Formats: sequence, structure tokens, C-alpha cells
Amino acid sequence: MKVLFATSELAPWVKTGGLGDVAAALPPALRRAGIDVRVLAPWYPAIARAFPNAVVIAELPAASGVFPGAALRSDIAPDGTSMLFLDCMACYMREGNPYLGADGRDWHDNAVRFGLLSYVAALLASSATPLDWRPDILHCHDWQTALAPVYLHYNLKPLAKSVLTIHNLAFQGLFGAHTLRELGLPQQAWAIDGVEYYGHLSFLKGGLQHADHITTVSPTYAREIQTDTDGMGMAGLLRYRADALTGILNGIDTEQWNPAIDPHLPTHYAGATLGNKSANKRALQMQMGLKHADDRPLFGVVSRLSGQKGLDLLLACADELVKLPAQLVVLGSGDAALEKAFRELAARHPGQIAVRIGFDEALAHLIEAGIDAFLMPSRFEPCGLNQMYSLRYGTPPIVRATGGLADTVVDAADKDRGNGFVFERAEPAELLAAVRRAASLWARPRLWRQLQKNGMAADHGWNQPAQEYIELYRSL
Ligand code: ADP
Repeated sequence: MKVLFATSELAPWVKTGGLGDVAAALPPALRRAGIDVRVLAPWYPAIARAFPNAVVIAELPAASGVFPGAALRSDIAPDGTSMLFLDCMACYMREGNPYLGADGRDWHDNAVRFGLLSYVAALLASSATPLDWRPDILHCHDWQTALAPVYLHYNLKPLAKSVLTIHNLAFQGLFGAHTLRELGLPQQAWAIDGVEYYGHLSFLKGGLQHADHITTVSPTYAREIQTDTDGMGMAGLLRYRADALTGILNGIDTEQWNPAIDPHLPTHYAGATLGNKSANKRALQMQMGLKHADDRPLFGVVSRLSGQKGLDLLLACADELVKLPAQLVVLGSGDAALEKAFRELAARHPGQIAVRIGFDEALAHLIEAGIDAFLMPSRFEPCGLNQMYSLRYGTPPIVRATGGLADTVVDAADKDRGNGFVFERAEPAELLAAVRRAASLWARPRLWRQLQKNGMAADHGWNQPAQEYIELYRSL
């Protein structure tokens, strides 16, 4: 079986969130399971630097007469994955975030940039492909490649079945009505069963309408997005497509995230050597300017700072958290108001709360290993990776019962299976109550160790998810 995997992000080179990680990890897992998979991604500067030997294998003339001309390059990634890069200077040769300029605003031509990516993905899955290699399945991801099934419906003759995975329903690729022409879509696509969405053009809506199958990244999120409260305006359409919608939990990269060999950790540990974890706590306290204290739990956050992540709940109860007593370390970047609020919080509690604004992979690893419990009070969470990293690092996560968090974290009240702490409502008092429960269990080392071990015992690698995707591909 041949699968074309179309993505706008690819870790570690271009990543703004979970999508980048999935695009780097799922294809090699599929390949190990015998699937002939090729990954299509834009030729960004960071990619060009990482793949200096990628050769041009096809020229793509100005497609549909609307997109700039482009070329396809090919290379093999260090892990053996076959890569196809879409080289269009005018569209992708920009440093930094793939979607935003240095001023933090969306690039003005994002519709064309990701319209082209979608179009070329569709082209390669159609009778008009310039390649000999013909995929059976085109697997698209989020709004950035969601137009591919739309092009297969209106503009091209499909040779493959399409799957669209929703990593985050909050991003829908909304553009003005005039974009229809810029994207080379026919007038007929401007319809309730096309790309029209309340007077706008929505990439995601078009994809949800026309993909042969839709997946999202956890079973609970698959149910939640069909409700009006969590459906972000797409609930009606998702309910209409319920028979073609499944949730498949993401895996994590168990080599990158392995406390027994993690190069970012001063001291390695595993289930049998959990005692060594505390040396990482000391190193983290030192690095972040926290008081060296063994008598209190250290809570931590690694996150985008956005409303989704519910960190305003933490801001509202952090003063109480310090009084437990406990310490807190936060690594994140994003929303300017949240960044400021966290800086101010740290300034109020020197030595007890430390905040680092920025994106720092190495520190993220040290935090996972060095803290006692991880905080993830998300308002919604399609899958979430950090709670799974935490489980693997013997760092019980404290989560709100939503999306993938609900599918991976079992509250400590369950003596046999408990691996963390779960609360229901997005309220500071509920988060604080969960933090208190964690602090008191932390003070009982035997019980705490059981909680850690339960979390570390689970296999959250990609083999199981890859099997589920393969079953889905076959069913199509
Ligand atoms: P989302 O995709 O919604 O941002 P996930 O938990 O699914 O949330 O994935 C986030 C990924 O980005 C994880 O790999 C996490 O470790 C990483 N990450 C987020 N913020 C930072 C940061 N400031 N520094 C380092 N890594 C971060």
C-alpha cells in the first residue's frame, strides 16, 4: 500500500505544535509496518538547510494557471523516510514560523501558499500526476492541506482515497470570498457542500466535506467536536459525517522522549531507578533559579501560552499553590498578555516560581524529568503530547478531563490504574483541588511511586496508532 502524507510542518525543522511531531513520527512507523509512504512538505529554508542534496525530480508548471510555478524535490530523511519537497521560492522561502511574519501576523498570501501545497498533494494523487509513483491513500492534515480533497473533487480525477486528520479544529483556514478564484476553484465549489462557510472560504470545511474519511487525534475529541459546545462551528458538518469520522490517539516519539537515554538530562533513570529522578529536580531548580528544596513538590508547565491551554486557571491559583508549599516552573510562549502575567507571577515569588518565556526543546526535556507533576488544565485538547511525555518520565500529569487528556490520564482515585490527577470543570478552584491532592499524595512516597510506575508502564509509542491507521487505509 502506498500513502502520500501531506503536511505543512515537519519536526524538528518546522514545528509550531503537535502536527509537526506527528508528521515526523507517523510516517516512519508506517514504513516499519510495511507501508510505502512518502511525505510531502514545503521546501522551507530550514528544510533546505537540512536536506542540501534533495534533487529536483519534477517541474510543476503554474498549476491551474493560478499558482506560481514550482518544483518537486526528493530525498531520504535520516530515519529512512522518503521525502518530497514542494519547492516554490515565492511561497516558502521565508524564515521563522511557517504561518506568521516577524510582526506576528498571518502572511498575507497564506491562502495561495497552502492552496498550492493542497493542490500539489491532490495532483500527486490524481491521474495528472507527473510521477510514476501512485499513492492509494492521500493523508492530509489540518486546514493547510485540507483543500486537497476539494481539488480531487472539483479539479482533478482522483486515483487515491483521501483521509483528513484534524489536529486542532480551532484553526480553520478562513479567507475572503475572493480567494475562490485565486485558488483556481470553480464557482460550483462556492456552496454549502463546498468551501463556503458563512460568507468566507474555509479550507478545513471544504476538506471535511470532501475527504473520504476524517480522523482526529483522540477518541474523546472525536466525540467532543460533534457537540455544539466544542465543535467550533463545524459540529453540524461533523455530525453529518459521523460515519466517516474516527479518533486515533497520537503516539509519542519514544526515542526522543526516553528518560533512560535522554541527552538533555544530567541524570538518566528508568522505572527501576526512579530514585535518580531527583538529581534532575536539583539541576532544574538550579538552572531556573529556584530554591533548592526537597520538602515540597515542584509543579511544571511546558506549553504554548494560549487560551486553549487553560493557563489562566493556573495564574488564578498560583499564589495558593506556593503556600502549599510547592514550587512552579513554566516554559512557554505565545499570547502577549499571558506572557506578561506569568512574568509578573514569577517576580512576585522569587525562588519559588520560575518562568521562561520562549521555545526551548532542551529545557522542555529537563522540566519533564525534573518536576514532580505536570500541569495541563486545557480547556480543550485534541490529543496532547506533553501528558504522555510526563507519564513516560514518571511525572504524573494533572489534567482537565478533555480530549486526549481524558483518554490517557487515569485519576489516582483508581488505585490499580491511576497515573495522574483529573478534574472536570475549567475553574481555578478545581485545578487547585487537584494540585492539593497531588501534593498530599507526593508526601506519601510509596503511593506516589506506584502512580509514577503505572504511568511509565504504558506504551505510548507509534506502533499501535500506526496499526490503527493502516486498518483505516485498508478499509478505504
Ligand atoms: P499543541 O500541539 O496544542 O501545542 P501538544 O501538547 O500536542 O500541544 O504538543 C506541543 C508540543 O510542543 C510538545 O512537543 C511540547 O513539548 C512542545 N512545546 C510547546 N511549547 C514549548 C516551549 N515553549 N518550548 C519547548 N517545547 C514546547
